[in-house]
Amino acid sequence: MKYFSLQNKQHIVSFEDAVVQGLAPDKGLYFPERIPAFEKDFLDNIEKHNDLDIAYTAIRSFVGDEIPEATLRQIIADTLSFPFPVQKVAGDIYALELFHGPTLAFKDVGARFMAGCLGYFRRNDTRPVTVLVATSGDTGGAVAHGFYNVPGVRVVILYPSGKVSTLQEKQLTTLNGNITALEIAGTFDDCQRMVKTAFLDAELQAHCLLTSANSINVARWLPQMFYYLLAWKQLKTSYPNVVFSVPSGNFGNICAGMMAAAMGLPVTHFVASTNVNDTVPRFMQTGQYTPGQATPTLSNAMDVADPSNFVRILELFSNSLPALKEKLTSISFDDKATAATMEQVWKEHQYMLDPHGAVGYLGLQQYLQQTGAGNDTAGVFLETAHPVKFADTAPASLQDKIVTPERVQSLYALEKKAVQLPNDYKALKDWLTAN
Ligand SMILES: *Cc1c(COP(=O)(O)O)cnc(C)c1O
Repeated sequence: MKYFSLQNKQHIVSFEDAVVQGLAPDKGLYFPERIPAFEKDFLDNIEKHNDLDIAYTAIRSFVGDEIPEATLRQIIADTLSFPFPVQKVAGDIYALELFHGPTLAFKDVGARFMAGCLGYFRRNDTRPVTVLVATSGDTGGAVAHGFYNVPGVRVVILYPSGKVSTLQEKQLTTLNGNITALEIAGTFDDCQRMVKTAFLDAELQAHCLLTSANSINVARWLPQMFYYLLAWKQLKTSYPNVVFSVPSGNFGNICAGMMAAAMGLPVTHFVASTNVNDTVPRFMQTGQYTPGQATPTLSNAMDVADPSNFVRILELFSNSLPALKEKLTSISFDDKATAATMEQVWKEHQYMLDPHGAVGYLGLQQYLQQTGAGNDTAGVFLETAHPVKFADTAPASLQDKIVTPERVQSLYALEKKAVQLPNDYKALKDWLTAN
């Protein structure tokens, strides 16, 4: 498969170049040259296939022959080494739980898949590559774990001091090895700006080979298709229709689901549920795309004002808003509704939501009510993180009911190791040059 830049369709690269570069030199996102179609027989019989075969079938044409079959199958097996259960919450409402991976959020899948691909492409290179990434919390942990001990790769993570949760900080700062955490005295936007400046700095690039692991990278974006296929596999024999509500920030996850639908997966409708950072819900109503500034919320992984991947969604619909509206609804909810839903769903259904999942639940509920969907429709919201990741800010009545999974309990005792840097590009450049 070849990829073109969404800024310039004449700029065409291989899968390898798209993965290693992350973003096109003209700052466009890469997009596959054509959309492959699933075979009807595969979709009709999806429940008879094992998860690894389903993932391989979905991703094969996007990779082409640039990674040999056995290697690609191994990367997939390493990526999907934990379950993706669909849990009934109430009636025909289900949670697709994406938090059973090592860092308790869905980003583990994209980060691991990308690490596998990058590790393969760099296998004969002696010059180490530096993965430079800014995180508001979840990306950093997933990238750190995904790339931990990958030969020839070092990872440098910038995170805003005091603005990530306790568990998120432990996940970033306790691995060591080829992972370094830079604790920046500033906001997430400052971290992102410093990283972007580094990518534009030719002098720095001459000194160290940089790549990005943010969700714009095709190797992080595309494997997220797997979730929707694996959910459909679990629901197909009980329901003819499925609606997915996806808590959305940078819109990479939902865009992968919409790609799977474009390939033939029979999804009735998508709901992009957001917090008060509502650029897309407003766009869907008015046709005007006016990002503004991000507002901090309880669902901090979705505090994004200008979602990078939305241009990919538009591309899937040939930039036609009426066509997009037939498949996508986008609804915004504030923190008050989010916290109230977490309490209510616990009280009524004994299901513990995290704030992102709560936003997804709200969007699903509102959409299903408005459209009057019957019991032939499975409503699925994506539970994108384990509630313990956001225990610090959970409603007081829930705090002592959130269970810490065993696999992260030991993290709290580990010593944090981070390099403190001011919110200043020169400090980052000096550090990268010296280390
Ligand atoms: C990153 C993240 C999101 C947003 O996903 P996008 O692909 O950026 O839309 C939602 N929930 C959690 C827990 C996340 O970490």
